[in-house]
Amino acid sequence: MEKRDYYEVLGVPKNATKEEIKKAYRKQALKYHPDKNPGDKKAEEKFKEAAAAYEVLSNDEKRARYDRFGHDGVSGAGGGFSGGGMSMEDIFSSFGDIFGDAFGAFGGFGSSRRSGRRVNKGTNLRVKVKLNLQEIAAGTEKKIKVNKYVSCDSCSGTGAADGNSMSTCPTCRGSGHVTRVANTLLGQMQTTSVCPTCNGEGKTITKKCPVCYGEGIVQREDIIKINIPAGVGKGMQMTVEGKGNAPRRGGINGDLLVVIDEDEHPDLIREGNDLIYNLFISIPDSILGTHVEVPTVENMVKIKIEPGTQPGKILRLRGKGLPEVNGYGRGDLLVNVNVWIPKNLSREELRAIEKLRDSPSFVPKPDKDDKGFFERMRGYFQQ
Ligand SMILES: [Zn+2]
Ligand SMILES: [Zn+2]
Repeated sequence: MEKRDYYEVLGVPKNATKEEIKKAYRKQALKYHPDKNPGDKKAEEKFKEAAAAYEVLSNDEKRARYDRFGHDGVSGAGGGFSGGGMSMEDIFSSFGDIFGDAFGAFGGFGSSRRSGRRVNKGTNLRVKVKLNLQEIAAGTEKKIKVNKYVSCDSCSGTGAADGNSMSTCPTCRGSGHVTRVANTLLGQMQTTSVCPTCNGEGKTITKKCPVCYGEGIVQREDIIKINIPAGVGKGMQMTVEGKGNAPRRGGINGDLLVVIDEDEHPDLIREGNDLIYNLFISIPDSILGTHVEVPTVENMVKIKIEPGTQPGKILRLRGKGLPEVNGYGRGDLLVNVNVWIPKNLSREELRAIEKLRDSPSFVPKPDKDDKGFFERMRGYFQQ
């Protein structure tokens, strides 16, 4: 599905303030809230879309990246990247406070959270992975060492010393939730919440596991293998589901969030999927033309310099840049041609140059339509 522009999703202008963005999101979220649209898949999609937009636009750093690179800058679309793929649970836990007074009075958000036991989820782990351009161009497999909580083998994650040392929770009598009747302006209201004693499990431990002290988890070093697709960029985040921390006393693991960082290349500068190389040629080569080798990420390629090439000319080598993260197409390699002006010439060299000074062909004849110049200036002002 084609992703809509985040500003369009929230219906705000590009220069909207944080307050305007928050207001706009709140309006959308209330409109498409699952409690108001039970079983409506379309409303759920809209609800998620608004949350994804808000997640980016409410964060200065992400918003700046989005403004510059669009959806690629914040999500990368596909390959397990987060950004558009928040679950309902994520949305409520991240932005739940935005509903505050609207749904708070009715005892929490979302009927799924109100009734029954909720599944425990471990916390997410976050690691940074630094890649060089070769790894980014080809995609790579990385082994990452993490220190994390895993389920305790001794008690199978229950926290109890042996299978029989669990007893029914006295607070909720095993149901996992407690019901409370409160008097409000709207009359008597019944609210149900997760049992605070057993955390919704319905059972409490009578004898704790000696290995994990009843927690059901132990800390351990783990090596996680992750496949990083080609074309990723600095700041992108990859979610490896289920590779984060195990929760206390059973449930599902959190996720491993991998944040991409980039090593600088000695010769090539990255700009989106394009690469830039700054080439210097000599004055005679710029006049006579030549063949030179320029680096790409993978190897060296030979290019032709036409006779009479002006400094500042940009040669575009199509498809010699980086691949798109979704797997379609490649960026270009832009070769910026500079002419090297030597200093400290010998007397003989100076004499040769002096002879050329008054030669008619050496009088400048600037080309008003020099595209290279305008391209460079535009790039300069975009910084
Ligand atoms: Zn209980
Ligand atoms: Zn244990």
